Amino acid sequence: KQAAYAKLRDVEPFTRCGTRIQVMINAGLRDDISALAMTGADGVGLFRTEFQFLVSATLPQRERQTRLYRDVLEAAGDKPVVFRTVDIGGDKAVPYLQSEQSEHDENPAMGWRALRLALERGGLMKVQARSLLEAAAGRELHVMFPMVSEPWEFDAAKEVFEAQIQHMRKQKKHLPDTIRYGAMLEVPALAEVLDLMLPRVDFLSVGTNDLTQFLFAADRANPKLAERYDWLSPSILRFLRRISSSMVGHQVDLGVCGEMGGRRLEAVALLGLGYRRLSITPAAVGPIKELVRRVDLGEITEAMTGWLSDPQTDLRKNLQEWAAERGI
Ligand code: PEP
Ligand code: MG
Repeated sequence: KQAAYAKLRDVEPFTRCGTRIQVMINAGLRDDISALAMTGADGVGLFRTEFQFLVSATLPQRERQTRLYRDVLEAAGDKPVVFRTVDIGGDKAVPYLQSEQSEHDENPAMGWRALRLALERGGLMKVQARSLLEAAAGRELHVMFPMVSEPWEFDAAKEVFEAQIQHMRKQKKHLPDTIRYGAMLEVPALAEVLDLMLPRVDFLSVGTNDLTQFLFAADRANPKLAERYDWLSPSILRFLRRISSSMVGHQVDLGVCGEMGGRRLEAVALLGLGYRRLSITPAAVGPIKELVRRVDLGEITEAMTGWLSDPQTDLRKNLQEWAAERGI
């Protein structure tokens, strides 16, 4: 595996037609960051901060959080890191919130989790904001909020950061040079109000793991539903296309950070739908960079348009043939 990584590390992911595609990694541990150098990825498109919370018996204190975020930024060097604020609760249960969680959650994935929990537990969000702001002093900070369903949730979460910034300014603390705020698009409802969201955010990252489960009402973890949870179905692909076409005329970076982007045919489909930034599992970076070089964006865009206009089309078969013809 190491040898395969090394061979593909220096592959620059330009498409055949010359467009540079951003290929980033998903991470959650300090040690994951070494994959940046090993794979030559462009940065960390999703750092799941909840890992630290999940392995801890008590709520991680500010010093511990700051140390982790600082270590991660240092390890990443010049490459950007997108920190997602905690997505705990729901199926990612933590002992110190257990009694509160189980009272409410019969459907944990749709329950009291992520931003919903963080906005109510204001102290938790404040400590995380402060830790991130301190850790990124003198650098660029990318913050992303999970499970945003309505614009006000994004505003409220951003406000927690802005209040901390005011506070730190008064204390003459060293702050990040720039802060970029983004949202995960993983609750379908948010896609219906993109016109309200786009003026607010610097970037959007589509979380296809959750988005797919919510769109199909099919639990992402239930093997009995695996066939209903299909990233190559017309419903998902049309939905993703609608999102990317709404971006025209807005200065908002769009990416995908679900597992979908690390899979061969799915990645080809995403390129054909207008996605130019994929954040994926480190093991997939080499193969996806290699694949990008064989894709002509004009060709795949036209092909996807044709296939998606006919819902009877077998997208998997068509993509398979298309890819095989190009040695993908
Ligand atoms: C997603 O939902 O697609 C995602 C990237 O986040 P997670 O897998 O952590 O829910
Ligand atoms: Mg998610």
